[in-house]
Amino acid sequence: MKKVLKGIAASDGIAIAKAYRLVDPDLSFSKQTITDVDGEVQKMQDAMDASKAELEIIKSKAKETLGEEEAEVFEAHITILSDPEMIGAINKEISDQKVNGEQALTDVTDQYISMFEAMTDNAYMQERAGDVRDVRKRVLSHLLGVELPNPALINRPVIVVSHDLTPSDTAQLDRKYVKGFITDIGGRTSHSAIMSRTLEIPAVVGSGDATKTINEDDVVIVNGLDGEALVDPTDEEIAKYEKKEQDYLKQKDEWEKLKTAETLSKDGVHHTIAANIGTPQDIQAVLDNGAEGIGLFRSEFLYMNSAELPTEDEQFEAYKSAVSKLDNKPVVVRTMDVGGDKKLPYLPLPAEMNPFMGYRAIRISLDRDDIFRTQLRALLRASNFGNLWIMFPMIATLDEFRAAKAIYNEERQKLIDAGQKVGDIKLGIMIEIPAAAVLADQFAKEVDFMSIGTNDLIGYSMAADRTNERVSYLYQPYNPAILRLIKHVVDSAHKEGKVAAMCGEMAGDQIAVPLLLGMGLDEFSMSATSILKTRLLFKELDSKKAAKLVEKALQAQTNDEVKNMVEEAMDSLK
Ligand code: PEP
Ligand code: MG
Repeated sequence: MKKVLKGIAASDGIAIAKAYRLVDPDLSFSKQTITDVDGEVQKMQDAMDASKAELEIIKSKAKETLGEEEAEVFEAHITILSDPEMIGAINKEISDQKVNGEQALTDVTDQYISMFEAMTDNAYMQERAGDVRDVRKRVLSHLLGVELPNPALINRPVIVVSHDLTPSDTAQLDRKYVKGFITDIGGRTSHSAIMSRTLEIPAVVGSGDATKTINEDDVVIVNGLDGEALVDPTDEEIAKYEKKEQDYLKQKDEWEKLKTAETLSKDGVHHTIAANIGTPQDIQAVLDNGAEGIGLFRSEFLYMNSAELPTEDEQFEAYKSAVSKLDNKPVVVRTMDVGGDKKLPYLPLPAEMNPFMGYRAIRISLDRDDIFRTQLRALLRASNFGNLWIMFPMIATLDEFRAAKAIYNEERQKLIDAGQKVGDIKLGIMIEIPAAAVLADQFAKEVDFMSIGTNDLIGYSMAADRTNERVSYLYQPYNPAILRLIKHVVDSAHKEGKVAAMCGEMAGDQIAVPLLLGMGLDEFSMSATSILKTRLLFKELDSKKAAKLVEKALQAQTNDEVKNMVEEAMDSLK
């Protein structure tokens, strides 16, 4: 073995395959004077043809994985490559100035980019500048003879190696070929990590220097169970990890038996285990893992997987499909939570120093109530087809909740006045900002339910960016400070007879589950793949003993102290 890389275990499982580096190559070149104009023009034509062929593949793959609209972006790129005016200008520069194709391409496309960027009153045209940049990169890669990697071009079993993966890169990973992935940066609750669990792709994130250490086609073992990767393993190591993988798969078969079982603690207390999803495509895994509902539908993925704002009807179909498939089990749809690490190409957000603390989620919805109203109407209409609940993200103040609720009530009334039926919808909030957690007793009087988003709540409480692996040691779910906040939220909800749920990753954390059970949390919503092992854990735990453990944990001083306490008590809780 050449090297072991340590990182954060983001998604369970073992994968062994050759590396595919999803890393931008060096596209630098120097300006040259040429003599063979026809040859240079031909070289340019070949590069454009090759780029088009590649874009056709990417487009059809995007159509399959992301849908028709997302694929349109690539159609636009093909159209740019077929623009006779641009091609003419490039060829003219080659023959007039006698410069190499790389230089001519850069000069001409620079003019287009400046022109588009100057159209400050037309956001649509401004975005075309980005398209021209993308196209230029692709053509340059062919002129320079270097490969421009793209998830859609992967057609063999690989381990994807990248600096970071955006949620949209992750959405394009084809499970058939992508056996695992490893990134330089990112934390366990970054959205690409969360998606890797949904896709059941073993993953290690935040490894520090995967892209520096791993070469294309190196054999890599991704150990998503322990958060490490082995580069260039020996035959013995491969055999050892193949065995580990088999053991893991056997364990999964055991969990499988609990698919239709009720979630009961050892002393017979029922708790709900629900699943988190990003798109309606994730619902199959929800059903396969025996979830008792959807505790978090991250609706922003509908917006991210689209080339423009999804219409009311498109959203209606997505929500309707979710509630219908869940057959009257609750489906909690969170209204759009873009911002932070989730971007919309067609809704440019201002560049901010701290996007996670900036213009995101409900803050955008209240500011752009046109977008918000469209979503609420789609949700209200879909509520007729099942058991739909609505949840507002990133609520910091009661005023925000009241403003969101007022808009919801207006849209509801408009539909009723127009003679349409709407279902009986529960309205709730995410508790992910410390101010809301502290004031949970007041919120509980006005909301129908509260769902604790620990991914952000822990980040904001510890002032540690969830996507930054350098501060990932501060992601401390068992820190008594966090536990006290959670306990206060659960108690406050119960005092008002409201549902206390959790949809952050902590809900599926095997050390946290006994504590949350002891606090009496009603609903645990998690990645679908964590459901069955958590149901098994529930079966083994006594809730009264767990409540006693909570009392002790709340008086502890550190995260590790609580972790050790739970680990040591695990047998006695059974
Ligand atoms: C959370 O913050 O815990 C949460 C569930 O929301 P997201 O991870 O999408 O920010
Ligand atoms: Mg959140």
